[in-house]
Amino acid sequence: MFLKPGSNRVVLWAILQIGLGIIVISQGCCRLFPVLQFIHVEHIHLTRQLRLLNQLGVDVWVHRTTDRLWSADSAVPVSPPETDDIPGRDSLVPTSLEEIEKAVRSCEKCPLHQTRTRTVFGSGCPDADWLFVGEAPGAQEDRQGKPFVGRAGKLLDLMIAALGLHRSEVYIANVLKCRPPNNRDPRPDEVVQCEHYLQHQLALVRPKIIVALGLTATRALLKTNRGFRELRGSVHAYGDQDIPLVATYHPAYLLRNPGQKSKSWEDLWLAKTSIQAS
Ligand code: SF4
Repeated sequence: MFLKPGSNRVVLWAILQIGLGIIVISQGCCRLFPVLQFIHVEHIHLTRQLRLLNQLGVDVWVHRTTDRLWSADSAVPVSPPETDDIPGRDSLVPTSLEEIEKAVRSCEKCPLHQTRTRTVFGSGCPDADWLFVGEAPGAQEDRQGKPFVGRAGKLLDLMIAALGLHRSEVYIANVLKCRPPNNRDPRPDEVVQCEHYLQHQLALVRPKIIVALGLTATRALLKTNRGFRELRGSVHAYGDQDIPLVATYHPAYLLRNPGQKSKSWEDLWLAKTSIQAS
């Protein structure tokens, strides 16, 4: 190959341009790599979440935007529970979950103590961000002394896993700490006698979000007689601290009505979105 006079400069210029190009591309790759890594991690997370939703029996992913779900308008203010006139309420405010659990174990404030095998206080992380509240223990819970065991408990585990969490990272409790005979609905007087234990649990755990499972738990927490259709789909505010509260179906109901699982996932997504926005 022959080079004309002055072509050395052209070659040097070309080499310089190629070198600069390589530097620019490599810097771009360095910046791009963390972004690609993030997309990859998100993809793995979403794939896992979709698999869990599939296990839950949820067919439709309903993606709703944050501002639509958690705006000032969507927060439904609810007056804090009036607890001062609850008959049998302890004047002593417990300072630890263990203290309340001890009080529950020996509680005889309502007739349910006569038929219980064990009290079911609650379990999970004592400073959890998520707190799930059911209505009352069932037969298996009564035998084991733990909330949400058995088939409904397994479904709740799946719901929690779909949120990217493990049961040990959340707190689970019921409104009633003793099983109503034959799994009948809790009576209003039983709820009144027992609910202050839950109120103390909530005050000590101080979650970022409460998920009320079923109508009984939702009504007990929000002190309302409104219907479940009205209560679902909004972020309510619980207590003096205005803890966001979302109502969804009880897992036992979802086992009987699997077609409602996608609605339940909508509720959990609403809760997740509100916790992220807070
Ligand atoms: S249900 Fe509640 S109030 Fe009734 S005996 Fe059990 S712990 Fe006490």
